[in-house]
Amino acid sequence: MTRKKVVIVGGGYVGFEVAKELDAHADVTLIEQREAFVQPPATIRALLDSALLDQIVLPYDRLLKTGRVVRGRAVSVSQTEVTLDDGNVYPADFIVVATGSSYAAPFKPSGDSIDDFRRASADVSAQLAAAKSVAIVGAGAVGTELAGEIAAARPDKDIILISSEDTLFPMYPAKFGNQIKRKLERAGVSVVLGQRVEDLQRMDMPYAGSVKLTGGRVVSADLVFPVVGSKPNTTLIQTLPGVNAVPSGRVKTDKWMRPSNFPNVFIAGDIADIGDGMTIVAITRQNPWLVTTLKQVLKGQAVEDQKPYAPWKKAPILVPLGPKVGNSWLFATVGNWITRKMKGKELFIPKYRKAFGLKR
Ligand SMILES: Cc1cc2nc3c(=O)[nH]c(=O)nc-3n(C[C@H](O)[C@H](O)[C@H](O)COP(=O)(O)OP(=O)(O)OC[C@H]3O[C@@H](n4cnc5c(N)ncnc54)[C@H](O)[C@@H]3O)c2cc1C
Repeated sequence: MTRKKVVIVGGGYVGFEVAKELDAHADVTLIEQREAFVQPPATIRALLDSALLDQIVLPYDRLLKTGRVVRGRAVSVSQTEVTLDDGNVYPADFIVVATGSSYAAPFKPSGDSIDDFRRASADVSAQLAAAKSVAIVGAGAVGTELAGEIAAARPDKDIILISSEDTLFPMYPAKFGNQIKRKLERAGVSVVLGQRVEDLQRMDMPYAGSVKLTGGRVVSADLVFPVVGSKPNTTLIQTLPGVNAVPSGRVKTDKWMRPSNFPNVFIAGDIADIGDGMTIVAITRQNPWLVTTLKQVLKGQAVEDQKPYAPWKKAPILVPLGPKVGNSWLFATVGNWITRKMKGKELFIPKYRKAFGLKR
């Protein structure tokens, strides 16, 4: 019996895992524009420990046993096929689009080239080594972890972390954010809350300069890091019939992660507005659902007969501030020891190296 064709666009946290899990159940094609997967959680510490880069750039060549990873950029999706910019067309019975999001350099590759990503990381790392003062604009998980990593590795730097919110991690119980603030301050970071930066000069990469806060204060820094969030890459699906984009730039789905009138096209991860945040933690919930559902529909069952996806009510979060310190919310606030064990020490590197068929 010929196996059904599943084409997955984007080999990030959604794409690589869904492809790997379906490899034995379908004829899988994973389309990815880059020659390797990069692990964003570790790109922060890589600025202070460049040897990490070799650990977190993971080639796709050992990922699948029977399916294939095609290097290329998808430019259109229909109900029956995916077309690449080189003109090649990949027919599909089911399509998963997981084109993810872009982030300011050097935290995710900005284009297709891993060499460019390595260069961007090395350039910023050198600027950071030379900088006496650092201003971090945006105190989400990336900004907060960046402040913690710099403070842990280079306690001589003047670090200021600026947030427009009145507390750190306002979506979580106050104790969680308050403890992180205290730990940062103990490490020498100055945390400025409730102040919006009015004149961020660049959103795409760090720069030397100053920022003006709403209160009028001007902060000069040898290096200003813009870390104000991810930008979803939804171009590929925006033109599908019935697609509904929301102000965040993500795309709404039905209860079975389908964004359009095409019943066999699914999306997940950072592009999908399903009620989850733009995190790997969300994907650790979405991927098992997607894999289970696709396995059933590959056997001929109707999508609508499958259990709908239910997002996290409040997702757990792990926030290391360097390899030893940190806080996590795992349905209760926990501190250094658990955060270090679960994330801070190894940043999930062994887990993903193993998934890509590599040694530790
Ligand atoms: C610095 C940083 C640290 C983070 N740390 C954490 C953390 O500790 N915990 C956590 O839960 N979340 C973390 N996140 C968030 C996490 O990285 C994202 O939620 C996750 O990467 C989203 O996965 P995804 O598969 O949706 O997309 P992505 O990982 O963005 O992958 C999308 C893939 O699609 C490819 N692609 C895009 N368009 C095309 C196309 N047209 N054709 C072919 N390929 C294409 C891209 O090259 C990319 O490989 C972090 C983010 C950043 C920036």
